[in-house]
Amino acid sequence: MSALMSRGRIPVAAPALLGNEKRYVNDCLDSNWISSNGEYIKRFEAEFARYLGVKHAIACCNGTAALHLTLLALGVGPGDEVIIPSFTFVATANAVHYTGATVVLADCEHDTWNMDVGKLESLVTHNTKAIIPVPIYGHPCDMDLIMSFASKFNLYVIEDAAEALGARYNGLLCGTIADLSTFSFYGNKTLTTGEGGMVVTNNDDFAGKVRLYQGQGMDPSNRYWFSVIGYNYRMTNIEAAIGLAQLENIDTLLDKRKTIAKLYNEYLLGIPGLVLPVVKEYALHSYWMYSILIENDYGMDRNEVMALLEEYGIETRPFFYPMHCMPIYTCAYNNMLRVSEDIASKGINLPTYFALEQADIEFIADVLRYRKS
Ligand SMILES: *Cc1c(COP(=O)(O)O)cnc(C)c1O
Repeated sequence: MSALMSRGRIPVAAPALLGNEKRYVNDCLDSNWISSNGEYIKRFEAEFARYLGVKHAIACCNGTAALHLTLLALGVGPGDEVIIPSFTFVATANAVHYTGATVVLADCEHDTWNMDVGKLESLVTHNTKAIIPVPIYGHPCDMDLIMSFASKFNLYVIEDAAEALGARYNGLLCGTIADLSTFSFYGNKTLTTGEGGMVVTNNDDFAGKVRLYQGQGMDPSNRYWFSVIGYNYRMTNIEAAIGLAQLENIDTLLDKRKTIAKLYNEYLLGIPGLVLPVVKEYALHSYWMYSILIENDYGMDRNEVMALLEEYGIETRPFFYPMHCMPIYTCAYNNMLRVSEDIASKGINLPTYFALEQADIEFIADVLRYRKS
């Protein structure tokens, strides 16, 4: 151990402001357009829609609000049920709960950690209205399976693609396949606006409803006439200015993540007890977070590994707790969600961000490899 020289603090995530961010923000300040009106919102939405190849992109204040808006656009409310993976970030569940609908939790696959479509059928009732697949940590979901399951049971599909900007399913970008999809631009996401989110869809009606609910429910043809109870979920021009600058460098940002994953795969290969991320034949992984499992034969448990890495200044994150394990979302079929519990207890997100250097990755791998020396 003493042979390993510290490399200072290595955070788990950090934004990369590489291009026109400052110039565009200054432009907002110089022009006085700092609120939720302005050219950068229009440009960011248009460029985001163009990047994905979708008809509508609606910028909003965060990814959770984006999810809430998609559910409102579909008319989801009390009495409805929405199926989501138990292994996800809490925002997916919260957005469903905000509508008054019931959150129904599904188990995940042991290899991709995404919702297991093979286990969904028993969860469908005549009240089920939608399912929300979540491409977790950047590995796309099997969207052909999900879309055909949904059409068989007449369900809407919302993709919570917060972690999967730039990931592809059989060549198609995540966020382009479901009825509606959402992204988050929180500070640790692949593209950041500080706080921010986006709803995308090819459906004109859904897009209109998202804009309606986002802007307090004001009738677009009758100012100060509110036809529904809406929300203020708008993005500011300053956030959009940062987003536009980030989007100009999206290929650079994604390429770096691919390189990081390749290096981790190389350096971590062959360490007994470590499970490296799986990439299915249909998947282009965006590696929002390079993530591994610590199996029993590694000789230390997940929390001990995190503490060890922390000793060397390496910040990591544990996997999300499955939703059904928390009292707020406990459900009656807990014992059916074993895979989620298993991977949640073994998983670690390793540092994944633009400024991470090859030598950092080598160092992290050395700590994991020589832990006992
Ligand atoms: C980040 C994230 C969100 C949205 O988060 P916000 O902080 O509200 O932007 C939603 N779902 C998942 C899976 C996420 O990782």
